[in-house]
Amino acid sequence: MLLTADKDPMGAAIADYLKNGKAGKLRVFSSMFEEDEIPVSQLFRTFRQMPPLEQTALRLSRGKILDVGAGSGCHSLALQEMGQQVTAIDISPLSVEAMRERGVKEVRLQNFFDRRLAGPFDTILLLMNGSGIVGKLENLPAFFLRLKELLAPGGQLLLDSSDLSFLYEDEAGNLDIAPEDPYFGEIDFQMRYGQIQGDPFDWLYLDFNTLRLYASQASFHAEIVEKGEHYDYLARVCRAE
Ligand code: SAH
Repeated sequence: MLLTADKDPMGAAIADYLKNGKAGKLRVFSSMFEEDEIPVSQLFRTFRQMPPLEQTALRLSRGKILDVGAGSGCHSLALQEMGQQVTAIDISPLSVEAMRERGVKEVRLQNFFDRRLAGPFDTILLLMNGSGIVGKLENLPAFFLRLKELLAPGGQLLLDSSDLSFLYEDEAGNLDIAPEDPYFGEIDFQMRYGQIQGDPFDWLYLDFNTLRLYASQASFHAEIVEKGEHYDYLARVCRAE
């Protein structure tokens, strides 16, 4: 699945910002949260403006790198400046166009789950809650199968995500979650930029224990590289030997 330009609000915001140095409001809706906004300038962050978890991820990147859901190309461009070899993919045609214009050398309009995307890659990056592209927890096994196809021997996946269980903590610190509830990291989103409304999509936040459990079931090993300031973390996932 790819987006089309008429349903690509984030891509439109990125294109606007690139052309005019500013953009309107990129609005985010969810049944779980109040209406929110993504500051478009943040999608153009430089290495120095990136949160420490992302800087660490870039420092650990090596070999042939795949930047998944690369957006405006901020991570790919920083890696190129560091002399690294990176391929950026995104399902947003407008973002892909923007990345080409900004000088990302190897860019493809492609979905991570499209089997025509071939590896091997030594490092796969999923940044800015990159586990989101998995959508629902039930898709996590399929994600690991895809990872197996794309990772070179000894290769690594670096991803950041947030443990949303804090949203369900009561005053005593107990989790107010019933076993029959859907997984607490499954969030629905919809974005709008001016007149451009995207389709609703599922976006998966993963707590580390759940990531580690599914990883081990797929013969991968997951570890936390660094913790962020707000229930977020950077994880490294490798094939378990
Ligand atoms: N990594 C960028 C952008 C994050 S927004 C940054 O940190 O600034 C998430 C991006 O992932 C969007 O550009 C969206 O179009 C893209 N995306 C969503 N699902 C995808 C998939 N299955 N394959 C590739 N890209 C995807």
